[in-house]
Amino acid sequence: MTTATVTPLQPGSNEYVTVQSKFTSKMAGKYNAQIHSIIKVEMPKHITNNHEVYKKNNPSLRCDQYFHGTKNACAIRNLNSSRICKNTFCCVCGIIRTGFKLNNSHVWFSPDAWYSHGYTNVGTDSSRAMFIIDVVGASYTSGYEYKVARAEAIMPRYLIVYSS
Ligand SMILES: [Zn+2]
Repeated sequence: MTTATVTPLQPGSNEYVTVQSKFTSKMAGKYNAQIHSIIKVEMPKHITNNHEVYKKNNPSLRCDQYFHGTKNACAIRNLNSSRICKNTFCCVCGIIRTGFKLNNSHVWFSPDAWYSHGYTNVGTDSSRAMFIIDVVGASYTSGYEYKVARAEAIMPRYLIVYSS
C-alpha cells in the first residue's frame, strides 16, 4: 500500500482494551482522559519496509513502545483512511501520510502518556491526539523524555483520540 490505512478499533475488542489499558495506566491519574476512539495505524508500505529493514540491521537495539503527543487540526474523532487531511498544521495526518520527520536531528517521545499529553492540542473537534509508537534504539534524555536520531527507527501503531 502506498498510502496509510487507519482503522478505528471496535470498543471492547481485545486490541482496543489492551491499548486503552496501557494509555489509561500511563496517564497515571493525572488527567481525566475520556477516549473517543483508538485508531490502528498501518503506515504506507515503503515506510513500514524501511522500519523493518532498520530493525533487522540493528538486532542489538531494543524495540519498545512509547507515547508521542502532537497537534491536530481536523475531524480526528472520525478519522479514517479517506479522511487523512493535508493541512500543514495537522501534524497527526502529516505523520500518518509521510512518517515521522526529524526535528533538530531527533524525534522526542515518552514512556509516560501524561507527559506526552503536554504536547497535544485541542483540535477543531475539541479532541487531543496521541500516538503509540514502536521505537528501535531509543535513548534516554532527561526527565520523562526519550529520543531517537533516525526517522526509520519509529513506527506509529495506534492513535488515541481523547479529551480531558
Ligand atoms: Zn488531519
